[in-house]
Amino acid sequence: MLKQISFFLILGLLGLSSCTSGDGNAEASLLIVEEEIPEVETAYGIPIDSYTIHQGEIRNNQFLADVLLKYHISYPEIDKLVKAAKGVFDARRIVPGDQYTVLSKRDSTGKAAYFIYEPNALEYIVFDLRDSVRVYREEREVTEVEKWAEGEISSSLYESFQSIGVSPVLAMKLSDLYAWSIDFYRIQKGDHFRVMYTERQVEGEAIGIGDVKACLFTHSGEKFYAFEHSIDSISDYYDENGNSLRKAFLKAPLQFSRISSGFSRKRFHPVQKRWKAHLGTDYAAPKGTPILAVGDGKVIAAAFGKYNGRYVKIRHNSTYTTQYLHMSGFAKGVKNGTYVRQGDVIGYVGSTGLATGPHVCFRFWKNGAQVDHRREKLPPSKPIPAEHMEAYMAAIELTRKQLEPKKKPMLASN
Ligand SMILES: [Zn+2]
Repeated sequence: MLKQISFFLILGLLGLSSCTSGDGNAEASLLIVEEEIPEVETAYGIPIDSYTIHQGEIRNNQFLADVLLKYHISYPEIDKLVKAAKGVFDARRIVPGDQYTVLSKRDSTGKAAYFIYEPNALEYIVFDLRDSVRVYREEREVTEVEKWAEGEISSSLYESFQSIGVSPVLAMKLSDLYAWSIDFYRIQKGDHFRVMYTERQVEGEAIGIGDVKACLFTHSGEKFYAFEHSIDSISDYYDENGNSLRKAFLKAPLQFSRISSGFSRKRFHPVQKRWKAHLGTDYAAPKGTPILAVGDGKVIAAAFGKYNGRYVKIRHNSTYTTQYLHMSGFAKGVKNGTYVRQGDVIGYVGSTGLATGPHVCFRFWKNGAQVDHRREKLPPSKPIPAEHMEAYMAAIELTRKQLEPKKKPMLASN
C-alpha cells in the first residue's frame, strides 16, 4: 500500500536580459536548476509522514459513523461528509469485510484527517476531512500479467478449471471464443487445453482475468487453435491459418446448386399433393453431388427414415443444429458421433425417402425451432486480410509452439 516516491524538480528559468551594448543585440540566457526533493512516503496518493495510520475492516452492523466517531469526527461533521460524498459514494453502502484506513493527526487531538474506504481491490474512496470536507474516488493502476494454464477435461470445462485453481471466468471466455467450433456442453473426458491469458493485477494481487491471448484446445483428437490478433486496433480470434474463429455457416450445403424450393410455412407438397409447411430449403443437384457440412460440429444422427431417406444431422453448438435429407449415401466415416469440420463432405445427393428427384433438403434449427437459415443474422467471419497474413503468421509462430501440451497436464503454471 505504501509507495516510496522520489522525484526531481526541474526548474526551467528562461531569463531574457536585454543589453544596451552598442551593437543593440539582445542576449538570451537559459538557466536550469535541478534540485532533489527528499523522498516522501505516500499512501493513496497522500503524503503520510505526519499521520498515524490505522487500518481495519468494516464489521457487521458497523456504520461510517461508528468508525469515524472513534477518531473524533463529530456527528455534524459526519453529516457534512455524507452530503459531500453524494454522487461519488453512498456512505450508507459500506459493506462488512471491506478494508478501510484512517490517517489521524499526530497531535493532541488525534483527529482523523483522512478516511479511505476500499469497496474493491481496484478502487478506493478518499474522504478528506481536513478544513473543507472533500470526497473523491481513485482507481489503482492495473497491470496485465501473462499466465498459462493447462489441463485435461475430467467432467465439465467449468469444473476442470476449478480443479486446477483457475478462475471459471476463463472457462466462460473459452467457451465463448470457441462457440462456433466446439460444443462445450458435449466435451469429452480426455479433451485437453493449454491456454495463455492475462491476469489483471493491482499491486501484485490478482483481481480478475483479462483476455485469452492464445489457446490450443484438443477436442475428440482434433486440434483447435485460437490466437488473439488485432488488425487496425480491432482485436479478434483466428486459427492457425488466419481464419476467423467466428465461423458463419456456409450459405448452402452444396457447392453448385439451385434452390428448388425455399423455406415456407405453407406450400403445396409435390408428392403428397397437399398444402403443408416446408421447414427446409431444397437444393437440386445431380445424384452423387457431394453434400457439405455447413459448419463444424458433431454428427448426432446418420440414419434412414421413411420420409427423410438417408439423412445426417449435425449439432454445431448449443444454439444451432442442421440436417441434410434424401442422401444417396453417407461419406466415408460419417456416423453418429463423428466430428466434422465446415466444408467436409458428409454425404451425396440422392432421392431416398419422400422425394421427386435428386436434391438435398436442408434443415436448420435455432434453439430447437426450425428457421430459414437464409434469414439468420450470423456473426461476420472475416479471415486475416492477405496483406496482413505474413505478419500474422510471424506473430503467432512462437506462441503456437508454446501451446504444445506439456508432459504433465492437470496443473496451472505461470
Ligand atoms: Zn425439402
